[in-house]
Order: sequence, then structure tokens, then C-alpha cells
Amino acid sequence: MPGTVVERVTGPVAAGVVPAVFDAAGLTSSERTVALYASDMPTRRRYGTKEQVRAWIAQGVERLGHEEVARRAVFCYGHRLLELSNLVPAAVRAAHEARFPDAFRLDVAAQATATSICFDGMHEAARKRNGAARVDGPCPCRGTGSIRLWVYGDGMFSLVCPVHNGGGRA
Ligand SMILES: [Zn+2]
Repeated sequence: MPGTVVERVTGPVAAGVVPAVFDAAGLTSSERTVALYASDMPTRRRYGTKEQVRAWIAQGVERLGHEEVARRAVFCYGHRLLELSNLVPAAVRAAHEARFPDAFRLDVAAQATATSICFDGMHEAARKRNGAARVDGPCPCRGTGSIRLWVYGDGMFSLVCPVHNGGGRA
């Protein structure tokens, strides 16, 4: 049948790459996405098995170090929150694009993250920091939690900042 993918997905991650102590459930969604982006995961819309996704996450964490994975993850999520509201300032977009130049790959990494969360779950400690977000650059709210917008014909109104006042997450 045309368009049917029958080839089995096999990635470059060899067996034994996953350290025995590695536990993907200890990472937030964004941390897993950042790790997958940094790994050897191929950039295509076919995801590996749960074992492969786990191995790629471990590889990304090993490459960047957990601290850097966590740092990029909070910026990545902060960018995402602003993006959902169409509020990304140019400087923040530039920092995000320097960190993740391939938007398609980041999207693939986010999809593979969903696989990981489905199979590996998330530990309570990771769940608690899962909503952590920061803005890498000047936030449109200037740290006040409120974004003032002037709309021609409608005048001035305020929006709650999705990063600095998003349900109490900061
Ligand atoms: Zn803000």
C-alpha cells in the first residue's frame, strides 16, 4: 500500500548505551525534549521504540550534562508559553533559534517525548518542576507578570504573562 512504512525503525544507538542508573522518569517533559534534540535521534517523523527513545534521552543528557539540559529546558518552555500567546520578543526568539536551529527537529523531539512519558511516566520531583519556565531575554511583562498591549481602536489592555504569572508558576 503506497505510503505505508513497513521498514523497521532501527537507530544508531547501540545496546548498552543506556547507563544502568539512567531513569527517564526523573526528567521533565522539556528536559527530555532538549536531551532528544541533542542526541543522535534521526530527524524524521518516525519515532523509535520506547527503549530507543530512552537511550536517546540518556545520550542527550550525557552529552550536555543534566544541569545544561535543565537550563535549556526552562528557556525552551518559557519560549513555548510566550509563543502560544504570540508574544515572543525578537531577542527571545533569536536566543531560542540559536539554541534550537532546527524547529522541525525540536518538534520531532517533543513528539518522542510524548512516547517517553507514556511508557516511562514521570517521578513526583520531575512533575513538580515540569511547569518551570524562564525567559531568555527581556520578557514582554518586564517581570511584572502583566503585559500591557495597545490595540488600535480598542485602547490599552493587559494580559497575564504566561511565564511570570501563569497559574503561579515562575
Ligand atoms: Zn513575563
